[in-house]
Amino acid sequence: MTSRQTPEPTSGRTAVPWRNKMVVAALAAAVLAGPGVAQAAPPAASAPREQVAAASITWNLERASNPTQDQRTAYDLITAAMNAAVARYNNLSDLGKSITVRYDPGVPTADGNINGTIRFGNRSYMTERTALHEIAHTIGVGTSSGWSSHTGQGVWSGAQATALVKQFDGSAAKLSTGGGHFWPYGLNYENEFSNTAGDRHVQIVAAMVRDGL
Ligand SMILES: [Zn+2]
Repeated sequence: MTSRQTPEPTSGRTAVPWRNKMVVAALAAAVLAGPGVAQAAPPAASAPREQVAAASITWNLERASNPTQDQRTAYDLITAAMNAAVARYNNLSDLGKSITVRYDPGVPTADGNINGTIRFGNRSYMTERTALHEIAHTIGVGTSSGWSSHTGQGVWSGAQATALVKQFDGSAAKLSTGGGHFWPYGLNYENEFSNTAGDRHVQIVAAMVRDGL
C-alpha cells in the first residue's frame, strides 16, 4: 500500500536536534532582547520545573498566493489534520521540530522527510492519522541513521520504546520494523487509528528518540 512509502532516507539528522532546542530558545530570547537590554536572570533554584519551556513541534503550510478552489479545499483539510496531530505531539511529548507542509497533487499519498518537509497529495490522506505518521518520519522513523542502527534485526532494539510497548500490550510485545516503518502503533493504515493508538504512537516515537532515534 502506497501509504507506507517513505522518502529516500537521508544520512544526517536535522541541523538542530530537539535536545538542543531549549538552548536555541534561550539564545533566541537573548537575541530578541536586543543590545542594551539586560538578559533575564536565570530561574531561581527553587523554580518549579513546569516553568521550564519544553521544546515543541511547529508547522507552517506553504500556500499559493492566489489559490484555486482545489487548493483551498486541500489547505483546509491539511490544516485540520496537522493541527490535531501537532497538538497531540505537544501534549504528550517534548519533541521539537519545525515542519514545512506542502500540498502537492503529484504525491500519490503523503510523505515526510527528516529535513522537516511533509507533502500531502491525495485527499483521503489528509487526516490526523497520516499527519502523525508523517511527523514521525520527520523526527527520524525510517529516515535517520539512529533508525538504521536500531532496526537491523527487524525489531526495535532500544530499551525505552521496547519497555513501553510491553507496558501497553504485555511482556511478549515488541516493536517490529521494516520498510522504514514500525508496528504496532505505527499508524501505517487508516484503520489503525483511535485516540488511544494516536497517543501511544506519539509516546513510542518519543521513547524511540530517547533510545537514540
Ligand atoms: Zn510512512
